[in-house]
Amino acid sequence: MHIKSAEFVVSNSDVMKCPNSSLPEYAFIGRSNVGKSSLINMLTGRKSLAKTSGKPGKTQLINHFLINKNWHLVDLPGYGYARVSKSSKKTFQKFITQYFSNRTQLVTAFVLVDIRHEPQPIDLDFMQWLGENQIPFSIIFTKADKLKPKAIENHVKAYELILLEFWEEMPNYFITSSPKTIGNKEVLQYIDTLNTNMKL
Ligand code: GDP
Repeated sequence: MHIKSAEFVVSNSDVMKCPNSSLPEYAFIGRSNVGKSSLINMLTGRKSLAKTSGKPGKTQLINHFLINKNWHLVDLPGYGYARVSKSSKKTFQKFITQYFSNRTQLVTAFVLVDIRHEPQPIDLDFMQWLGENQIPFSIIFTKADKLKPKAIENHVKAYELILLEFWEEMPNYFITSSPKTIGNKEVLQYIDTLNTNMKL
């Protein structure tokens, strides 16, 4: 898919105020600092469409971007920031739960995980929750430029081993690097295929 246009539409803290549109939407979510903004900028070929966050955990907003005038890319807040209080964690959970429960336009979620780390409970729990709520998702491994190919393979395998304990098969996944522009074509191709299939 060639990105002809990418426009910021709106930021919201209330899912009910998200665009009233039937365009298919794709949500990107992950731990703070996982590289979500960089990935969105890489995918759209724009330097600063998504703001790389100076203060992780502070911007708890749902951001809609209109891509090629025919689908929405949704930048969801980063989760798991250690310094937020318990009560704001609860508010955050509610907010995210409401997004996923209400947006029937959502085609699939992309859960971002840093390829360098061992599988983290917070990400596994979140994927489990998506599964229980029948929300389709793919995994996007970020920061692949930080590891050698063999280590990438091993880290993906470690994920696979853990996920196969509670999933029948490994979810669809992508390996990406924003500074090296790796994986963007594959993610965009996947979105394009889903968009096309929906029209059939
Ligand atoms: P966000 O908080 O998830 O939106 O993460 P950002 O996109 O703001 O990135 C967090 C930090 O990770 C920044 O210092 C980025 O430069 C860095 N970063 C993001 N993606 C990559 C990547 O693919 N490779 C490397 N090496 N660094 C990355």
